Amino acid sequence: MLRNDSKLTSESDETCIFCLIANGQDKKTQVIKKNKELMCFRDIYPAAPHHYLVVPIQHIHSCFSLHRGHIDLVKRMAEMGKAVLQDQGITNMEDISLGFHQPPCTSVDHLHLHVLAPRSQIYEHLMYKFIPKTDNFVTEESLRNRIKDKAPIVKSGVDCINYQDLSVVGSRR
Ligand SMILES: [Zn+2]
Ligand SMILES: [Zn+2]
Repeated sequence: MLRNDSKLTSESDETCIFCLIANGQDKKTQVIKKNKELMCFRDIYPAAPHHYLVVPIQHIHSCFSLHRGHIDLVKRMAEMGKAVLQDQGITNMEDISLGFHQPPCTSVDHLHLHVLAPRSQIYEHLMYKFIPKTDNFVTEESLRNRIKDKAPIVKSGVDCINYQDLSVVGSRR
């Protein structure tokens, strides 16, 4: 898909499926929880009996676009994910998996938290995508640690993706 770089952190991107869902323009996707900031819906390719995505309504490109100002957002994404699991009858909150893929391992370039349960029942052929504490699948907690010292880059009044960081991703602090 062609993508205009200037749109990486814009409010909404008309070529982005998650923005379409957020704007109610994708009738096939049923949003199961939504507030002013976030929404949650089922992953169309479930990797476990319960598999949801929590997505900011505003278009944020990926983990790499986040800085310390997003710590609470990341927390609230996890909270919504857990709340949805509880709404769906999940009681063993130890046996769940929450995490982010990071480019180039993302299927949609709009930040999303994968919420899977039970973790012990993640389908074997898809398990490799959801191994926590790897750079492939970054847990909510390790993402918060990663961004906690990262200052926002401000360019002409607009938040920009921090390209410098692309080179250090993967290094653990
Ligand atoms: Zn989007
Ligand atoms: Zn993903």
